[in-house]
Amino acid sequence: MTRADLAALRRAAAAPASPSAASDPTPAAPGPPTAAPAPTAAPVSPPALVPVLVLWDLDLTLLDPAGFGARMITPVLADLLGREPVMGVSFAGRTDRAILTDLLVRNGMRIDDDNATDTTLTGGGELTSADRLVPAVMDAVAERCETFADDLLDGGGGSLPGAHDAVRALAADPLVHQGIVTGNMRRTALLKLRVCGFDGLPDPSLGAFGDHRSDRAHLILDAVAAARARGIDVSPAQAVVVGDHVHDVRGALDAGARCIGVATGRVSADHLHSAGAHVVLPDLTDPDALVAAIHAAAPRH
Ligand SMILES: [Mg+2]
Repeated sequence: MTRADLAALRRAAAAPASPSAASDPTPAAPGPPTAAPAPTAAPVSPPALVPVLVLWDLDLTLLDPAGFGARMITPVLADLLGREPVMGVSFAGRTDRAILTDLLVRNGMRIDDDNATDTTLTGGGELTSADRLVPAVMDAVAERCETFADDLLDGGGGSLPGAHDAVRALAADPLVHQGIVTGNMRRTALLKLRVCGFDGLPDPSLGAFGDHRSDRAHLILDAVAAARARGIDVSPAQAVVVGDHVHDVRGALDAGARCIGVATGRVSADHLHSAGAHVVLPDLTDPDALVAAIHAAAPRH
């Protein structure tokens, strides 16, 4: 999809969310004519506060997976290939679909072609469709993650310092809605949230996951659309992505959203700033700083 396509999606997402959420379209009932308002002394109402959709990245922002994904993917690929897979592709900030597609290609699959043939995998001649293969591998990885869920904590993973308090601090504001935008596929994202104690908050139903998209900007627009379908009248400009990687920042900017960088991953604060993050925090251990950053990134009226 091109930048022009993204711009069109952003414009569509900026329209009123729903008749119930937009200003009341019901015409005024007929009645006696009223006097024109006086030119002076009109009451001035304070501007209305607008909702904000906070979209959390998971890995190295809310939680540290400590290599859980690679430990789950490697044996699945080994079973598929009948040999140890070649790894060495970047996981950071990328969607599971993009990571697994790269790994399959790196291991000899021609999966960018729906009619790709891989004789190593099929034993000769049988056609292998990318549309079937990538989701099948993702399902196998998700199943292994669920079977060996304890490996995340056993391997040294868990929620990052301050993450639970940060989510709770934002939950105290009724106009802040918290969803998820992650490169993790839905099944593994929900698993990681549960294992790390984030059940229900952030709200996965306001989220978008790495199953079907390779581009984070599309995930962000999907999450905004999910919020609007719930009657939360937000535009992309009222969405604030919180993430640790330049991919989070670029995705947010491409989607017309805001971004708070958190330097708890492998990207420095300076790099997050230079990528265009509106605010950068060293970590999530100061809830007041996070709340202030949300307000600074997305003005409330
Ligand atoms: Mg991340």
